[in-house]
Amino acid sequence: MTSTTLELLRKYSVAGPRYTSYPTAPYFHTGFTEADWAGALAAAPADRELSLYAHIPFCDTLCHFCGCNMLVPRDYSKTQPYLGHLDREMARTAQLVDPTRVARQLHWGGGTPTYLNPGDIRRLMGMMRQHFTVADDAEISCEIDPRELTREHLVALRESGFNRVSFGVQDLDPAVQLAVNRIQPKDLIQQVLDWSRELGFSSINLDLIMGLPKQTVESFSRTLEQVVAWAPDRLAVFGYAHVPWLKKHQRLIKEADLPDAAMRLGLQERVSETLGAAGYVNIGLDHFAHPEDELVRAQQNKTLWRNFQGYTTHKDCDILAFGMSGISQTADTYMQNEKNLKRYEERIAATGLAVERGLKLTRDDQIRRDAITRVMCDLELDFAAFGREWGIDFADYFADALADLRPLAEDGLVTLAQDRIGVTTIGRMFLRNIGMCFDRYLKHAPSEQPRYSKTV
Ligand code: SF4
Repeated sequence: MTSTTLELLRKYSVAGPRYTSYPTAPYFHTGFTEADWAGALAAAPADRELSLYAHIPFCDTLCHFCGCNMLVPRDYSKTQPYLGHLDREMARTAQLVDPTRVARQLHWGGGTPTYLNPGDIRRLMGMMRQHFTVADDAEISCEIDPRELTREHLVALRESGFNRVSFGVQDLDPAVQLAVNRIQPKDLIQQVLDWSRELGFSSINLDLIMGLPKQTVESFSRTLEQVVAWAPDRLAVFGYAHVPWLKKHQRLIKEADLPDAAMRLGLQERVSETLGAAGYVNIGLDHFAHPEDELVRAQQNKTLWRNFQGYTTHKDCDILAFGMSGISQTADTYMQNEKNLKRYEERIAATGLAVERGLKLTRDDQIRRDAITRVMCDLELDFAAFGREWGIDFADYFADALADLRPLAEDGLVTLAQDRIGVTTIGRMFLRNIGMCFDRYLKHAPSEQPRYSKTV
């Protein structure tokens, strides 16, 4: 570890967005109505494919690090009205969408989608297929908490057409698991991986979290070694987002137990070394995949995209998200559902939609979103090609961003040539900071507000 890198980490560790959308969610507003959303769906081209998302907010217990919109119902019967509301929401949305549009991607997240019992997993997928046409070769994925998962859950997913699974592993060290209230022994994960392979899921992703309480470079190295031995197709290694002002339960985590800047840097370096040595390619911010994986190919072909589900190869899909807090998007709108379960259910019962807030993107928003996405996905940006695509003179249009990037270039995070921006190897750790240089909303914020997690 060089002290220079540590100094950079200290300097650039500021509150900033992850850019799964631009403009970012805090700028969605309640002036965006159901009529606006219906209009956006009606205006979308019939040949634009769909990506369907269902949010299942239920969990058995609360992990102290959790940043998701979830709840612990303690009574399974609470899932039943929710499934009914999802059905109604999908039925109403389907009325607003051109019926010839095809879903190329389908994803369940949460919460814990496999909180649903196997019968309800089949039922929910039946509803989705009833309301929308899902392509035969669609990518169908589910986030899974390995705890409480039975083989029957996986059989229900597989028989419903799921071909990808993503397991939350986070950290295998018992002291860390205790500190975050998520006890899941290694053998339990081994078992669910064995079942998944036996049942023929074509892609297995494992999620890890860096920066959890009690984590050390040594303890996380052991987790990484075991994870590499499991040989998942993809890995996502997220930095823990400590935002106790937004997620009150994160106050259960003692700040004194969190790794300091030097430890976080050590963790990051160990992740790169271990996964790199095992043959994984780093995709942008936090994803890793085998060199032959389509995410890697998309990065090489410059067709990689970033949305609320992370990095994706499906750039030209509109996302239709169902369930409380779900975020949908068309080419030029974002829409978020009610985040509170009661309000979500009341709104669905009333109209079939639960629009809480949203945003119609201006042309400037779309241009800046593309610039941020290109930098975070391609790790470079060619001024002439970008300018041709949007009909702008890049250097002129982005004079503000280029000025903001200059200090980052002096610190070695980017290279700034006459005709392009390149992200350096060290700069990959600071992609969020680089993206922030293009963010018009941050520049006009009266003062930095504690809305975002730390960038590094
Ligand atoms: S299982 Fe996932 S969604 Fe549920 S509390 Fe834990 S981290 Fe949050």
